[in-house]
Amino acid sequence: MTQVRMIGGVYPLVALGLIFGCTQVPSNEESQSSELLLLDLTPSYEWSEEEIRGAVNTARAGRSLQPAGWPDGGKVAVSFSFDVDNETIPLRNGSLSVGALSQGEYGARVALGRVLDVLAEDDIPASFFIPSVSMMLNPGMVDAIKSYGIHEFGIHGWIHETNTQLSEDVERRLVVQAIEYMEEMTGSRPMGYRAPSWNFSQNTLKILQDLGFLYDSSLMADDRPYELLAEGEPSGLVELPVEWILDDAPLLNPRGNTYSSPRELLQVYKDEFDVAYEEGTMFLLTMHPHVIGHRSRILILKELIGYIKQKDENVWFATHQEIAEYVIQMSEEGGLR
Ligand SMILES: [Zn+2]
Repeated sequence: MTQVRMIGGVYPLVALGLIFGCTQVPSNEESQSSELLLLDLTPSYEWSEEEIRGAVNTARAGRSLQPAGWPDGGKVAVSFSFDVDNETIPLRNGSLSVGALSQGEYGARVALGRVLDVLAEDDIPASFFIPSVSMMLNPGMVDAIKSYGIHEFGIHGWIHETNTQLSEDVERRLVVQAIEYMEEMTGSRPMGYRAPSWNFSQNTLKILQDLGFLYDSSLMADDRPYELLAEGEPSGLVELPVEWILDDAPLLNPRGNTYSSPRELLQVYKDEFDVAYEEGTMFLLTMHPHVIGHRSRILILKELIGYIKQKDENVWFATHQEIAEYVIQMSEEGGLR
């Protein structure tokens, strides 16, 4: 359970505690077991303005980092990320469910290869956020991803732990452990962070600042890159926002409550891309090898790439890190829109 200290006292972690499993829609069971404790029982309708402002202030959107244009004459930036969760989905909760573990195992055994093949067809770089335990169980994935020389590795927790259920000390220790493990496995220090479950605790942003991350990609306050504010102050961290509608997991889960057929989902992605293109902003799509890498789904990724490339040549495909570095450079050179 997490205690939140803010202006005027201690307040509950209500909104921030809505915990989604992985970037997957939670089952009712998961929701019920999540820590949504009210430490201060004052109902929110009795909060003062100061208290309300304090409650939303942990990590908020600051200035837009939308550049006037993208590199190579690009009208839009396109960035694919893959959260390589695999077996950590059951393991994060200590589950030994053999069936669920085998579903995760598919991610490394079959699906990742399909994803890498599709990206390689058009030399498209991508960002792979991998929990340490996922790398531990399938170390061959690292070499497979590295062999292309264009992909990025980013942090996605130690075992896909739920930040909001951890003390600051434990959360920090696990992020440090994950960085060290990834550095050892990949040979370079990761610059990007994606929170397991796309959620921050009250301490996550401070931990990311202290550990020198360049960017986060877990929050949802814009379609454009922006700077995160920590308690109202510029944090120096770039946020590359995500969205549930731009995530394969909840909408392709046949056992979930929000299932779409892959081909219907493809239309959503095309429409999102088309508007991003018109606006000249960013199209960032989160996928999971164990979800998108199945036969009936990898086809939509392939078709989406074809659609984007067909649009015209003014598309800048980049890793998340490349986008973060570019917008910081534009910010320093006065090149923001
Ligand atoms: Zn995940």
